[in-house]
Amino acid sequence: MTSFADFGLAPEILRAIEEQGYTQPTPIQDQAIPVVLAGRDVMGGAQTGTGKTAAFALPILQRLLPHANTSASPARHQVRALILAPTRELAAQVAESVAEYGKYTPLRSTVVFGGVAMEPQTDALRRGVEILVATPGRLLDHHQQKQLNLSQVELLVLDEADRMLDMGFIPDVKRILSLLPPKRQNLLFSATFPDEIRKLCASLLSSPVTVQVAPKHATADMVTHKVYPVSRERKRELLIHIIRERDIRQALVFCATRLGANRLAYQLNRDGVHATAIHGDKSQLERLEALDQFKSGKVGVLVATDVAARGLDIEDLPYVVNFELPNTPEDYVHRIGRTGRAGKSGEAVSLVSPDEHEKLADIEKTIRKQIAREILPGFGPGAARTSSLMPERKAERREREEPSLTGSAGRRAERGSRSERRANAEPTRKAAAPVDDIFFKPYEPSQASVTREEPVEAERRKPERQVAALLGGLRKQG
Ligand code: AMP
Repeated sequence: MTSFADFGLAPEILRAIEEQGYTQPTPIQDQAIPVVLAGRDVMGGAQTGTGKTAAFALPILQRLLPHANTSASPARHQVRALILAPTRELAAQVAESVAEYGKYTPLRSTVVFGGVAMEPQTDALRRGVEILVATPGRLLDHHQQKQLNLSQVELLVLDEADRMLDMGFIPDVKRILSLLPPKRQNLLFSATFPDEIRKLCASLLSSPVTVQVAPKHATADMVTHKVYPVSRERKRELLIHIIRERDIRQALVFCATRLGANRLAYQLNRDGVHATAIHGDKSQLERLEALDQFKSGKVGVLVATDVAARGLDIEDLPYVVNFELPNTPEDYVHRIGRTGRAGKSGEAVSLVSPDEHEKLADIEKTIRKQIAREILPGFGPGAARTSSLMPERKAERREREEPSLTGSAGRRAERGSRSERRANAEPTRKAAAPVDDIFFKPYEPSQASVTREEPVEAERRKPERQVAALLGGLRKQG
């Protein structure tokens, strides 16, 4: 069995690894570390939770050691490695890992991402760093303001490339590539490899070594998947029932929209379940606070949207709940990547309403697995179309596929909720227009030291009124 020492890593790096409590490399580390140390390009198929950060960060630190020095002169601390990550949370976590693993070396690192003031970042860049972790937009902002010299970059990492694509960052990434010296080592990590990512690999990577820890679309082996058929209106009740029944202390609950996540967190709190929401509408500080509260156990339920949860490093999470199924099967894979980590068992629970059965079928096709259904007494059979989700009733499915809401108000409500979902949805590959001005705005240089504004209250309230009307409509139906 390989140990970290077998890779020939420097004692100061090994010391930091030991302090982290890592006793042996994970499979992705086993595969990637020697390849990166050998200077080869890497195409890495790995999702968060596999130890992929250390898989690139450790050999990068090792390769940069010849540049390590204790000089105070910024000129002696040029950016040698650039790590691009799609979200602020992921960038912050990667930077934290790099700093931990490199703490006994004089190599310097920092992170830049949007949504916070530029000045402290500019100061750190001015002082000089060897390793820079960045989200694409903010990196371009700094470059535009001539705060950044990328002419000495030797190593580039594109982390979670598929998410970069989902979030519309590929043009920014390409712009960044054009700013880098052509001769460099490139590492690309992605959980999935849609065609566009394959194209990017072909243009970016030169004779890459492929390292992969889970076959495409395979979900973590240690995760038990379960579907609870339920009507849309009773999902919250069912969620609370499951949380109480099983005495769940920590669960990450996914909603399809930011509005939905906010509303669910609010309602859970009202019903006595401590919950907080994390999504693109929240400021960086609010998101980090929510994450901290969750990690420290202050709140038991973190309600998240796909974009916000991407890359979150939450260890040993026993439960991931899909309050709503994601728009793409790939997102299901990403979501459940939060549980069943490092050999621990985890449970992925999906509350599936009849209108989601096509999404469920797509997910099952993608993960090549039929997910077990369980109807909880009092929650399933009452809902007209719930049983159409039971596999043994497939033949009857067509007959059951009438709208669950009857009457014109019901249809209006369905239409309304769908368009609300569309309007607020975090982007998917198919999303035509950016919806989150923090994440999805095409690149525009921002003003120095300006914190990006959160959407004004009026904008937030508008859809809530629609939903209130919607719920009223539903209640009248009942
Ligand atoms: P990542 O996939 O990089 O987000 O890492 C997931 C989690 O695994 C992080 O909490 C790491 O600290 C942890 N981790 C990374 N490498 C190892 C290792 N070799 N042994 C144990 N835990 C690790």
